[in-house]
Amino acid sequence: MKNKNIKMNLHEYQGKDILASFGVRIQRGIVAKNAQEAVAAAKQLTAETGTSWHVIKAQVHAGGRGKGGGVKLAKNLQEVEQISGQIIGMNLITPQTSAEGKKVHQVLIAEDVYYPGESETSEFYMSVLLNRATGRNMIMYSTEGGMDIETVAEQTPHLIFTEEVDPSVGLMPFQARRVSFNLGLEGLAFKEMTKFVSALYTAYVQSDASLFEINPVLKTSDNKIMAVDAKVTIDDNALYRHKDYKDLRDLREENPIEVEAGALGLNYVDLDGNVGCMVNGAGLAMATMDLIKQAGGEPANFLDVGGTADAARVEAAFKIILKDPNVKAILINIFGGIVRCDRVAQGVIDAYKNMGNINVPIIVRLQGTNADIAKDLIDNSGLDVLSATEFQEAADKVHKVLA
Ligand code: GDP
Ligand code: MN
Repeated sequence: MKNKNIKMNLHEYQGKDILASFGVRIQRGIVAKNAQEAVAAAKQLTAETGTSWHVIKAQVHAGGRGKGGGVKLAKNLQEVEQISGQIIGMNLITPQTSAEGKKVHQVLIAEDVYYPGESETSEFYMSVLLNRATGRNMIMYSTEGGMDIETVAEQTPHLIFTEEVDPSVGLMPFQARRVSFNLGLEGLAFKEMTKFVSALYTAYVQSDASLFEINPVLKTSDNKIMAVDAKVTIDDNALYRHKDYKDLRDLREENPIEVEAGALGLNYVDLDGNVGCMVNGAGLAMATMDLIKQAGGEPANFLDVGGTADAARVEAAFKIILKDPNVKAILINIFGGIVRCDRVAQGVIDAYKNMGNINVPIIVRLQGTNADIAKDLIDNSGLDVLSATEFQEAADKVHKVLA
């Protein structure tokens, strides 16, 4: 299923800011919206870090940017200007975006941290997430950094390690040391990694994250350990504890229909199918999606209109559902408890007439208080709306209109 609204995904630069605020070492960078800002950022970084090489990194909510041409090295200010100008505004296509790609609005200008030195650089993989099977947070890590972790899991699963954390005591120092050991580190790099892991775990817990994925974690040629990339997802339900995180949401990166539905107070999740659903109650919505599958269709969305299914709300829901061009039929499945079925039926009829341009068949199943009156209203409306009272009947009618 697509990303649900309970998660807030962040850009790399935002995720790195959060990591840094908890003392996790990061590859330093400054975000820029145009080529001039990029040059200014590079100058500032050079003044602070001494390095004159920079990486220009597209900031979009998708991984695999390097493969898609969204991460490039610039060896002087002229290249910073030229590469930034080229990446900003481009549609970046990566293995994790759709075929159209994602529009790049900003780039991160970061210090080059792959400089040569006394030892080789190494790339590791590290994530922190909840193990749902045990109900505990875990650190998942691998010597195979910079690669797609799914590929590592498939081809060399023995190179992926996990460290599960007992919530009553938190991450123990011996566990952090075991990470360094399993990654084959020694001396300064061993100590640095142990510190890195501890700080990373603290950051994960304190920021109420639901995912940290750092790929790669870099061992520099002078044995520092730092986050070069950062995929950070924050649990929406904890945002009240982090007032300063609210502004980090970038609506341009989210599904536009979901954003609009959210603003209307509708609980809507866009899906890939062809049958739009309008339902009251999350449980009934899930059952309705099953029903659609049984009838040979695929749900186009999850939509819970909530308790007040009046004409205005039904109309708003219609508008949202019809924004999806894949919708070939709409199934309305409402249980009239507090809200009477005849009110909902009238709402559907009024909204249908108001919209004027609904050209997909609609199946309405109303059950509960005044269901019979509701059915009469629908049947006598003269509109292309089919009524049903039973689940199976609704499924059959969906099947028929799709055939
Ligand atoms: P992703 O492709 O979206 O996962 O983006 P990353 O932030 O992981 O960057 C992709 C790749 O760019 C990394 O795996 C590195 O190999 C490379 N890269 C990142 N930072 C630097 C840098 O400072 N210098 C150099 N030479 N390469 C870098
Ligand atoms: Mn990466």
